[in-house]
Amino acid sequence: MKLRSVLSVLSVLVLAMTTGCEQAETRLPEAGGADIPEGWHRVARVVDGDTFEIENGELVRLLGVDTPELHHSLKKVEYYAETAYAFVRDRMEGRLVRLVSNHGTQELEREKYGRIIAYAYLEDGTCLNETLIQEGYAFAYTKASFGRKKEYLALEASAKARAIGVHDEAARILYDLATDLPVVSFEDSNFIAHKQSKLLHTKTCGQLPTEDHRVYFHDLGEAGRFGYTRLHRTATCCAGVGDE
Ligand SMILES: [Zn+2]
Repeated sequence: MKLRSVLSVLSVLVLAMTTGCEQAETRLPEAGGADIPEGWHRVARVVDGDTFEIENGELVRLLGVDTPELHHSLKKVEYYAETAYAFVRDRMEGRLVRLVSNHGTQELEREKYGRIIAYAYLEDGTCLNETLIQEGYAFAYTKASFGRKKEYLALEASAKARAIGVHDEAARILYDLATDLPVVSFEDSNFIAHKQSKLLHTKTCGQLPTEDHRVYFHDLGEAGRFGYTRLHRTATCCAGVGDE
């Protein structure tokens, strides 16, 4: 065997070993292209760090990962949620992903809410679920078992040891200090807002939000620091407030 052919055999072997992430050999079509290879799906929209929508309208939940809460009507955006969302959106929106089930097949599995639950491989062959944990964008999912749980817990421990991303406790504390709403009683408050619409009312307004949607503030300055700046401008509420 000549050296050149030995080398070419070796390079094929090396290539086979380095693409151990079950990378598809199929060449991927450009955006808008008609033919999408089997097992691949175009990402229409990223919902949050661990959920996205594919072109047929189905939602996909990334298997084995848990990113901080981004959308919750009554709770604040959790620490690092925006960063994790941006990371996933930049890598996925409009791109193709290959979905692989917990059992390592292209047969899609669904969880109790009807969402597809899968490992997502990007066009460069990397597994997004794995990257999210490795780089501290997500926690390993612990509420249920899945094939790579042990591996993901080890990756999480490593990210935690480096205190990166969701594991940066100092940054989390600072974030919480800046975003945790003040605890103010009804008696001590002067303004009451709706948690979702953020509309501010004077305490004596006849159209106060229901109790479970309320957030109480001492004054408008305090409300403003938390992004509550819209006033309910009616004669019996905030008309005239802040005008002087
Ligand atoms: Zn009002």
